[in-house]
Amino acid sequence: MYANLFLGYWEREIFGEGVQAASHAQCWYRYIDDIFVVWQGTEPGFRDLIRELNSNPYNIKLTYTIDAKEIDSLDIKILVDSVGNIQSDVFRKATSVNSLLHATSAHLSSTIKAVPNIFGAPKQRWGCFPCGSCLACHNIDRATYFTTSDGGRDYRIVHYISCSTTFVVYYAVCPCNLIYVGLTSLELRTRTREHVRDIVAAKTCTDPSALKTIPGHFRLRHNCDPTGLRIRGIDKVHMGTRGGNSKQVLAQLECRWIVSLNTMSPHGLNEKLSFAPFL
Ligand SMILES: [Zn+2]
Ligand SMILES: [Zn+2]
Repeated sequence: MYANLFLGYWEREIFGEGVQAASHAQCWYRYIDDIFVVWQGTEPGFRDLIRELNSNPYNIKLTYTIDAKEIDSLDIKILVDSVGNIQSDVFRKATSVNSLLHATSAHLSSTIKAVPNIFGAPKQRWGCFPCGSCLACHNIDRATYFTTSDGGRDYRIVHYISCSTTFVVYYAVCPCNLIYVGLTSLELRTRTREHVRDIVAAKTCTDPSALKTIPGHFRLRHNCDPTGLRIRGIDKVHMGTRGGNSKQVLAQLECRWIVSLNTMSPHGLNEKLSFAPFL
């Protein structure tokens, strides 16, 4: 499981140099350890790539599903319709697999152009949305994506998250764009208000060294003004679909996003990273 944390670094290696066959991948989207690829090439060529990727020093083994017409990836069914366009539909996933869509050249140009839109298809209302009627709304972002601490990479939010959503991984951003990744099993609005209260309380705190990271930073840099705090729900645990202990799964997601978004101090505002949820 530790290996999954390093998929991001590994991908850079794959596309940076070395793996020649990867140039047939028309797109490559990863959500934690699920990867969605549109492949323009032969099926044996794809199997060669998997073989090559699976002989890696990280002990990462990819499993895959190939289909020319339809594939289930994460919570969506992605299919090529009769005229060669890609369509998507919500799909409740039964098992965890890495998926691959084999796009034959006949589908290509329109198909490939359509791919980036799959994750933001208009019928899905995915993203983080303030409810519009609570105190926490002031601090909660309306957004469909989130970025790494250096702004170098965007990720789509592939859930619907609002003020009342529970079991959420969120990121908190200050006016100087430092990111803190956190989790809450309570409603996102409850955790948001706690952050705001902590920041306000920091103003009159007599022992600044005892402050938690966010209030400490807001005292040092932002005059304890909580209006500059932006909260964005970025991921959540689907009850009953991932199995196991929801709180543990939530902690695993938080840990993965701290690594993927590179939010450990000094790049971001996270001070602690525990691998305990994986043990
Ligand atoms: Zn609200
Ligand atoms: Zn700041």
